[in-house]
Amino acid sequence: MSGKFSRKLTLTFVVLTVAAILLTGLAANVILNWNFRRYLRSTQEAQNKRIIETLEELYRDATSWQAVRHSTWYVGTTTGTQIQVFDLHGQLIADSLTGMMQGMHGMRWRRAGEQRGNTYEYSLLINGQQVGTVEITHLEQEGLFDREALLFRNTVAQAMAVAALVLTVAALLAGKLLSEKLTVGLARMSEAARRLGRGDLSARVEVAGDDELAVLAGSMNEMAARLQEQNSLRKKLTGDISHELRTPLTTVQSYLEAFRDGVMPADEKNLAAVLEETHRLGNLVSDLQELAVVDHRKPAKTVIVNLNEFVMKEAERFRAGMERSQIVFHCRPAREDARIRADEEMLAKVIGNLLSNALKYTPGGGEVAVEVFADGKQAGFTVRDSGIGVAREHLPYIFERFYRADPSRSRATGGFGIGLALVQELVRSMGGVVSVQSEPGKGSEFRVEFPLVP
Ligand code: ADP
Repeated sequence: MSGKFSRKLTLTFVVLTVAAILLTGLAANVILNWNFRRYLRSTQEAQNKRIIETLEELYRDATSWQAVRHSTWYVGTTTGTQIQVFDLHGQLIADSLTGMMQGMHGMRWRRAGEQRGNTYEYSLLINGQQVGTVEITHLEQEGLFDREALLFRNTVAQAMAVAALVLTVAALLAGKLLSEKLTVGLARMSEAARRLGRGDLSARVEVAGDDELAVLAGSMNEMAARLQEQNSLRKKLTGDISHELRTPLTTVQSYLEAFRDGVMPADEKNLAAVLEETHRLGNLVSDLQELAVVDHRKPAKTVIVNLNEFVMKEAERFRAGMERSQIVFHCRPAREDARIRADEEMLAKVIGNLLSNALKYTPGGGEVAVEVFADGKQAGFTVRDSGIGVAREHLPYIFERFYRADPSRSRATGGFGIGLALVQELVRSMGGVVSVQSEPGKGSEFRVEFPLVP
């Protein structure tokens, strides 16, 4: 493929160069001819002027045609023209050519006469009075100048031919170099694409320079990197899910085997433990379902939401739980209007997840506060707690799926590390951002903000 492309490119280069040379040659020829003709005309006219002046002088001095008749031949011979003088009645008085042809160079002038050039006609004036007309024909002059012009044109043509040869070779080389550069890049890309297609997601293209090919290679690398990232995420997710499923399942299995073998009594306490594990399984499945839904859904039913009312109403659902855990719970609306555009179901889920985390990770006697805010352009809410906080090294990852800062602890509280991932996905899909600030032992603050609707 690259061979064909390279050949086509080189051929285009050569064709273009040859066409350019031919066009330049043609234009040069036309302009040269035009200029030569102009030059010829102007020199002929200057010569004619001198001839007429001589004839007028001769007539004036002798006041007869006799002198003119005698001198016409001489003037014609020396100037290489045929001069024909007519009187006022149109009668031919003198013709230099007939005179010339009788002379020594008769044959030469007869031949010259066959190649007639431009003929000019003038009035012969003596003291402002017309006494006759003169026709001057330049013999061989066209040919004479053509010979010079031809010589010049030939020189130009030769120079052009040399230039054409040099340029064609240059075009061939340039075309080859350029096409090689292009095809090498293309070949690398198609090789990488082939490897990617075969499933080798580590394939990358070497990027050099900043031309369109380099941009294309860059985009291709980016695409490959994303594919690789998605692929490893998918693998990790599958691993995480199976791990999360196995733990409660193993527990249930071992309880049931113990009941069957009579090692453990199937009493109320043990059955409650089995039931709890099945609840965990149920929770995991529903969390996964929600993640799957978020992955495939855009905020469908966005409406204008008054955060002051909505957040307060959703937060109130947690009051009983907070009180049961002996946590002081504050809810503060903003003083300003805080309206945003959101999907109410999604927004309720965001508030619910953040508050259930605050409840989970704040020991009794602690404090949880929900506050709505609105500044010039943004509106949102914060969920602050005085709980266990998140260590700095875990903070950048807590929004990732299945990430838990302290797996044993969060398992004890029934978490799978999906809650915050869901929060982030939901907030993002509604055009907002979620951020966190936390200090271990002191507490955390989650901040969710959206563009304010005026
Ligand atoms: P989980 O179901 O484990 O709570 P999340 O995605 O909701 O999963 O949270 C991820 C991790 O972030 C948790 O395991 C926990 O370590 C940490 N985390 C979340 N919220 C808080 C909080 N309010 N205080 C302290 N740690 C938190």
